[in-house]
Amino acid sequence: MKPCLIIGQGLAGSFIALELIKRNIPCFVIDAGDENSASRKAAGLWNPVSFKRITAHDSVHYYLKSLQEHWQRWTPILGDDFLHPLPLVRIFPDQTYANDWDVKSDSPKMAPLLNTPIQEQPPWKMPFGAGIVSQAGWLDVPLYLKKVQLLLSQKSSFLKAQFVWNDLEMHNEGLQYNGQEYSQVIFCTGLFDAHPWLQTIPLIPNKGHLLEITAPHLTPQNIIHYGNFCVPLGSERFRIGSSYEWEKADDSISTDIVQELFMNFGEHCDTQNSLISTYVGHRPTVKDRNPIIGSLPEHPRMAIFNGLGTKGVLQGPYLASLLADHLYQQQPIPKAFSIDRFLNKDRLNTP
Ligand SMILES: Cc1cc2nc3c(=O)[nH]c(=O)nc-3n(C[C@H](O)[C@H](O)[C@H](O)COP(=O)(O)OP(=O)(O)OC[C@H]3O[C@@H](n4cnc5c(N)ncnc54)[C@H](O)[C@@H]3O)c2cc1C
Repeated sequence: MKPCLIIGQGLAGSFIALELIKRNIPCFVIDAGDENSASRKAAGLWNPVSFKRITAHDSVHYYLKSLQEHWQRWTPILGDDFLHPLPLVRIFPDQTYANDWDVKSDSPKMAPLLNTPIQEQPPWKMPFGAGIVSQAGWLDVPLYLKKVQLLLSQKSSFLKAQFVWNDLEMHNEGLQYNGQEYSQVIFCTGLFDAHPWLQTIPLIPNKGHLLEITAPHLTPQNIIHYGNFCVPLGSERFRIGSSYEWEKADDSISTDIVQELFMNFGEHCDTQNSLISTYVGHRPTVKDRNPIIGSLPEHPRMAIFNGLGTKGVLQGPYLASLLADHLYQQQPIPKAFSIDRFLNKDRLNTP
């Protein structure tokens, strides 16, 4: 069987590579190792609940099941030092929100996700109480990517290099790149330059700021969400984030946003702390906030896995399994995630 060529080894490329390996489908991954990729900047949280309206995506239970299966299969092989399952405490902003949480906790969809409210967790201020999301946690994404890359390298299935679009040749039986034959190519390139055939896919950069602080007297029990999140990293360090700026692709650090994140933390947590570092990254996002997977109807050997947006960790394993089912078992992709929603007849056959 000819291998599948995967371009990009961020979260998307890693999840699909491991999904193919699981199915005994050979793959070869090329990644340029860009230090500014979304995955290398990500906070790595997985949280099945959308806090704005205390709701969840229709596919949330599939996301969680696939995520759990992914860790069960891969942590014995890769190790588990990158994985931090941790309850997430949502501090209620007001009484209406607290009441709403109570009501939603009884609904069939949300009941397995929302746990009993808690009252106190000093030095956090919780005048209206707080609730717990137990099926949450955070992934040390850079470390996870490193482990996946090592595994791929051990299988001689990884090359650190810039993929050159013009060197890809297509013929009836497959594809050729650098003298090698492949059955399929999957572009997992995030916000980086897309292949000309994929350039009409509307990916929007969403810029985010993150802070790292030290807080020697803060006990690292849970992830806390108070409008922003605070993730315990160990050794008295905490990650605070993040901001959301649509259609912003620059790398500049805004002192206003840093100050806002820092002050918001101070307003909710009464503890001594100091800022260690600040950084920004860009999420590959889609307007309807759903990822994009699938192959091009006119070139079925060319596929895409992108648009993971703010929830790459939570959604990635389920989407990787849908994409593999589609490419290797001819299963349809649910409309909400399919590339078809961005294809129109005018662009077919135009390189
Ligand atoms: C500040 C911030 C905070 C975030 N927090 C979270 C969070 O808490 N939880 C969460 O789930 N998600 C979070 N995200 C989102 C998450 O990072 C993304 O959803 C995810 O990383 C996207 O992964 P990707 O593989 O699609 O893209 P990327 O990570 O950008 O990967 C693309 C890869 O393709 C490679 N590449 C591109 N072009 C080429 C080429 N021509 N040749 C070779 N290689 C190429 C690049 O080197 C790169 O490694 C956050 C993002 C940011 C910026």
